[in-house]
Amino acid sequence: MMACQSENNVPIVGRDQVMRGREMHWLRIDRYYSAPPEKLKYFGTFNIEDKQQFDEWIDDVQVVTQPMLCQHCEAAPCENVCPVNATVHDQEDLNVMIYNKCVSTRYCSNNCPYKVRKFNYFDYNKRSFDIGKSLYMGPFHKRKDDEWDLLKMSKNPDVTVRMRGVMEKCTFCVQRIAQAKIAQKVKAGESGDVVVPEGTFTTACAQACPAGAIVFGNLKDPNSKVSRLKKLPRDYTVLDFLLTKPRLTYLAKIRNQNANMPDYYKTGWPYTFEEYKDKMGNPFEEAHPEGLNGAEPGGEK
Ligand code: SF4
Ligand code: SF4
Repeated sequence: MMACQSENNVPIVGRDQVMRGREMHWLRIDRYYSAPPEKLKYFGTFNIEDKQQFDEWIDDVQVVTQPMLCQHCEAAPCENVCPVNATVHDQEDLNVMIYNKCVSTRYCSNNCPYKVRKFNYFDYNKRSFDIGKSLYMGPFHKRKDDEWDLLKMSKNPDVTVRMRGVMEKCTFCVQRIAQAKIAQKVKAGESGDVVVPEGTFTTACAQACPAGAIVFGNLKDPNSKVSRLKKLPRDYTVLDFLLTKPRLTYLAKIRNQNANMPDYYKTGWPYTFEEYKDKMGNPFEEAHPEGLNGAEPGGEK
């Protein structure tokens, strides 16, 4: 998220605006909680009598995280509701925004089933640097020259700095794609070999992810890593039934299906920490026999 924010000049809006639902991140991490069915009944029906059981459950859920960004849908529902065609496919079938065409109807955001479009409510770049001063100083606010210089140094010069009243979203780091294409064209010269080789560049989020969980590449090349991953049986599309045909797909999480392995879970339900501990022992105690931060093993951590 942070890599995307700094690469793409995404404004940091502050706590007050986040509380009003106006966060601007182009990429968010969704969290899903799961637990065996007998524990799931506490979720959503919380009442005070169940508090103890609820506490037990909430301390022992399994969490799955899922990065959620623009899916670059082939049949993009955000595009056909825009009255001014400010969001369209480009020649490479990316779903792109033309900021200076956007007239702020926000229809696209209403029609995006993945809720990944973010509206720029204020000209955040005209906000005072002084904490506690007003959020937006108005269109005629004069910022001191040295303040502008400081602000400019924090921006990526390859990406537009948006103003208020435009819809924003992930571009698949289109500036990086353009740079790679230009560099390849220069390198190719008269040979005409302008296809950017795999691995030349990637998006900011993929570059920053230490686990390599995000893979970006050329879908037209059947041998690219992303094309090969997409052929795996565990590849799936979020909200598949809406037929938006996203380019971005996910790989299902692998759980151990081998009944001979000690961490195999026979019912097929995801195991929680308590269940794991019963079968495998407490991994924290093995890793920290003295306890964490000097706490007694088995004590509060
Ligand atoms: S994910 Fe949303 S914003 Fe992105 S192309 Fe699909 S409908 Fe449009
Ligand atoms: S591909 Fe680029 S713009 Fe899209 S979420 Fe990743 S870093 Fe942000």
